[in-house]
Amino acid sequence: IDFSKASFKDFESIPDMNVFQRAGFFKDFTDYMEVEGRMNYGFVTHDGCGPEIFLSTPFQQTPKRCISLVSNDYLSFTQHPKVKAAAIEGLQKYGTGAGASPLIGGHHEYHTKLENKLSTFFDRSKGSSMVYTTGYTANSATLLSMLKNNDCAIVDMAVHASVYEGLLETNIKRFPHNNLDYLERALSEVQSKYHTRIVIIDGVYSQDGDLAKMDEIYKLTKHYGAFLMVDDAHGIGVLGKRGRGVIEMFDLLNKVDIISGTLSKAFGHIGGFIISKPEVINYLKFQSRQYVFSSNSTPAMNGLLVALDLIDEEPEWRARLSENVTYFKKGLLDMRLDVGITESPIIPIKIGDAHKTGIAARLLLKAGVYANAIIYPGVSRKDARIRTSLMATHTKEHLDKALTDSIMSIESWVFPKANKLYLGA
Ligand code: PMP
Repeated sequence: IDFSKASFKDFESIPDMNVFQRAGFFKDFTDYMEVEGRMNYGFVTHDGCGPEIFLSTPFQQTPKRCISLVSNDYLSFTQHPKVKAAAIEGLQKYGTGAGASPLIGGHHEYHTKLENKLSTFFDRSKGSSMVYTTGYTANSATLLSMLKNNDCAIVDMAVHASVYEGLLETNIKRFPHNNLDYLERALSEVQSKYHTRIVIIDGVYSQDGDLAKMDEIYKLTKHYGAFLMVDDAHGIGVLGKRGRGVIEMFDLLNKVDIISGTLSKAFGHIGGFIISKPEVINYLKFQSRQYVFSSNSTPAMNGLLVALDLIDEEPEWRARLSENVTYFKKGLLDMRLDVGITESPIIPIKIGDAHKTGIAARLLLKAGVYANAIIYPGVSRKDARIRTSLMATHTKEHLDKALTDSIMSIESWVFPKANKLYLGA
């Protein structure tokens, strides 16, 4: 394998190498990437969870104060005093763990309260929701237990990895991102072939920050008698008048067949959930191996009961986040940087070349901004970018510092077109 052209996928199987030899070879590869500056920062260690963190990396051992543009803690609820107090109260009342998997004694009062609250949050009846240990599991486990040989998933190519993992035992049709013509073609091709046809989309797409064309997708899906599942991990809590996400924006809260979401982003905790008809939830609770044979979240999830209330009681967090998004995006656009088609707090700075993107991320870090370089296979090979995401508690000073001290200071060769335009050349 030529390391200079290799990607992680090339190490999945190598002739004549057993798994331990492959792991050794892969270690050589990640070391090479590190030295060449082509890896982001590998696994960084940092202190602090807010908009400012202390961060150290393999090439920068002393922790350095940075502005963080990597967190999905959009509303900064991980730091909200009421959320923290409720989490601590949960731990004090119930202890530190669930003690067993849900079906055999690990389904506690706090799990039931959260399920009921989630049903109410989405204007659904009691029994319409369930909680998984992560958002990733909510998608993969739900789909794995529902879709088999006689079924077919029709997926937007840009859906999250957890959806793809859920489709290992069923038939798949992919359609290019948000492309309604291809979707319609796929729906009509499979219409009489499979018992279940389910279209699966994200609400907000996690790399470009753009939204699903949900109203048109919903109409097409129903026209062809299929079901619709929406993973709105990045939208719920953040977008929509009442913070119910992209599904609310399109007025489809009571119409989407399956909603999946995470508790680890806007709600500031960990876990994932599914909202659907009570009979589907019942099915999943008995049939989903990852639910049946695995312990569920800890009593600290008591904090989530408050976080869900705060979405209604303190809409100012959403408003502050939205102001930050407008301000930061304008700052980037004023520098003629390419932010793509984002409509959410995920704002990419598109560069294209993976090597340049890696170097840009390091230069940003040197200038005091922590933002991720996203390269293949996270995005396609020529679409590497720095991905930024904003929080409600970023101040104007944070954003100005990130924009002027750091992003603008990047060498002109990283963003040649942008800088040329910026300098009026
Ligand atoms: N869906 C999407 C669209 C995501 O971006 C993510 C997390 N990156 C997940 C699901 C998984 O969520 P969690 O971190 O709770 O596993």
